[in-house]
Amino acid sequence: MHAMNTAPRSEVDAADVNQSVPQIQFSSVTKMYGSVPAVRDLSLTVRRGEFLTILGPSGSGKTTTLMLLAGFEAPSSGDIMIAGHSVASVPSYRRDQGIVFQSYALFPHLTVARNLEFPLEMRGMAPDQRKVRVARMLERVHLGEFGGRMPSQLSGGQQQRVALARALIADPPFLLLDEPLGALDRNLREQMQIEMKSLHKEFGITTVCVTHDQEEALTLSDRIVVMRAGRVEQIDTPEALYDRPTSCFVAKFLGEANILEDALLLARVDNAPQIGTFAMIRPERISVLPKTAEWAQTDQRQYVAGAVDDMIFAGPLRKYHVRVGNNVLIVREHVAADQPVFQPGEEVCLTWLRSDIRFVSP
Ligand code: ADP
Ligand code: MG
Repeated sequence: MHAMNTAPRSEVDAADVNQSVPQIQFSSVTKMYGSVPAVRDLSLTVRRGEFLTILGPSGSGKTTTLMLLAGFEAPSSGDIMIAGHSVASVPSYRRDQGIVFQSYALFPHLTVARNLEFPLEMRGMAPDQRKVRVARMLERVHLGEFGGRMPSQLSGGQQQRVALARALIADPPFLLLDEPLGALDRNLREQMQIEMKSLHKEFGITTVCVTHDQEEALTLSDRIVVMRAGRVEQIDTPEALYDRPTSCFVAKFLGEANILEDALLLARVDNAPQIGTFAMIRPERISVLPKTAEWAQTDQRQYVAGAVDDMIFAGPLRKYHVRVGNNVLIVREHVAADQPVFQPGEEVCLTWLRSDIRFVSP
């Protein structure tokens, strides 16, 4: 374990870590549980200071990846490097990291301040130093008044902030979060997303977060790793994953996607797709026009005739289900005052830019 170091984090980093070395690196890591591969041939780099989210459906290997990184599990093959050193065989208690799990796991019989003091005590910090550090941390997470309370006397969001504060207080080199907001209701979750983002900015700490919530991943992350059946499906920034998914799986996991499977639609698309790929377009990239609109295919723009199946008014958005041949396409439009509204049964014309079509693998 690193010696307890009370210097500001930038000094700690400069002293013991070469900035050019990736902070965390998985090289061809496989983890078998018996004959079940939970993680397969995973290669992944986490950059210093970045917020990286591992996103995927249940059972895709997210928690296992985090357990491997935390040292609670050892890889069956492959290696994990932290700051340039192999840690594949270093157990968790020998590592230096902050961890927050979905169940906050605060000590229920200790006050908030004592909860925060605990990791410092474990590291042998003197009592008066601990008190100073705890008071400062409570201020930083806006819980200055709450040190004397028991965890049960706090709201879910406050408990979550205490858990984060406790993970951060010993100045770990990185933070591991497993579904950190999973136990919170929707409004609180959104509020905590904003708080976590600003805490990450303030502390600048390398963070690896696991979630199955795509909105959370899009909001918080510098980069997202999408996992599927133990493998990395795609790694990129939130914007790039949303705009340029390489598979149907990623396109559908990160938002709504129309897959234009109908031969008719494909035939209208330029540079015909390779065999085994699908044409995908996001609902907000399609516009609905009255059937009577003048239109002719251009090099840039496509038009197809359809009929409205359904119209859903959702506050600032209007969502249409439009039948085109055997496809039902989803269209999302911002509600503007001068926009016509189309009713179920009405015949319409759909149009999109050819450049908004993405070809994706299954
Ligand atoms: P996620 O966090 O994405 O839901 P996990 O990493 O928990 O997925 O699990 C990945 C796969 O490994 C699943 O098929 C799961 O059943 C299996 N698995 C996870 N932990 C264990 C374990 N301790 N023993 C046996 N199988 C496990
Ligand atoms: Mg999990």
